[in-house]
Amino acid sequence: MTRFSRPDVPARGPERRGLMFVLSSPSGAGKTTLSRALLAEDGDITMSVSATTRPPRPGEVDGVDYYFVSPDQFQTMIEGNALLEWATVFGNRYGTPRRPVEDSLAAGRDVLFDIDWQGTQQLQQTDAASDLVRVFILPPHLAELERRLIGRNTDHPEVIADRMARACDEIRHWGEYDYVLVNDDAETCLNEIRAILKAERLRRKRQLGLANFVRGMLGE
Ligand code: 5GP
Repeated sequence: MTRFSRPDVPARGPERRGLMFVLSSPSGAGKTTLSRALLAEDGDITMSVSATTRPPRPGEVDGVDYYFVSPDQFQTMIEGNALLEWATVFGNRYGTPRRPVEDSLAAGRDVLFDIDWQGTQQLQQTDAASDLVRVFILPPHLAELERRLIGRNTDHPEVIADRMARACDEIRHWGEYDYVLVNDDAETCLNEIRAILKAERLRRKRQLGLANFVRGMLGE
């Protein structure tokens, strides 16, 4: 038996630290479809369900798409430090409930965030910044964005005009993200997101048990 045939290497892979995976994009760039596809196929990532004062759109479910709350309830959450970040978007408030995120990260599970550039900046300023992976999704061009917003058929024309103006504001923040994708084909874009997630999970700093694993392998 050689020194290297000793079966004392731990059978299971090292434990991993959860990461905060942010997908930001202007409304209508296809982010919701991409997040749903990712969540459906990947059991190691869970969605952060935001709280919002915006009224539900047809088909949206409380506790699934958002927690729909009153302005007073939202204010109480801010004052109770119950939100990890929050921002005002289109005159409504949106925020990330702190507790579910902290619980998931502690359990080594990744969390997917559909939040805007303001929320992303706030997460970057927290202690958890090293857990953050920021991905920005661009539409192929603005005409396509407008087409998708109109096709979604859930908003009034003036709301769509507002959303187009805000889309331009959002796009101006692309440079604050770690990865930037152009969604001209949803399947290609999903593949790119999968690749980013896979690589980020393998970062040395996230593989908490690596030192023990290697020590065991070397018999040290
Ligand atoms: P919508 O009203 O179309 O669902 O969302 C409008 C915008 O609010 C989107 O850009 C979305 O990413 C952003 N958003 C949703 N939830 C949150 C949140 O918890 N925090 C922040 N900062 N933005 C959010």
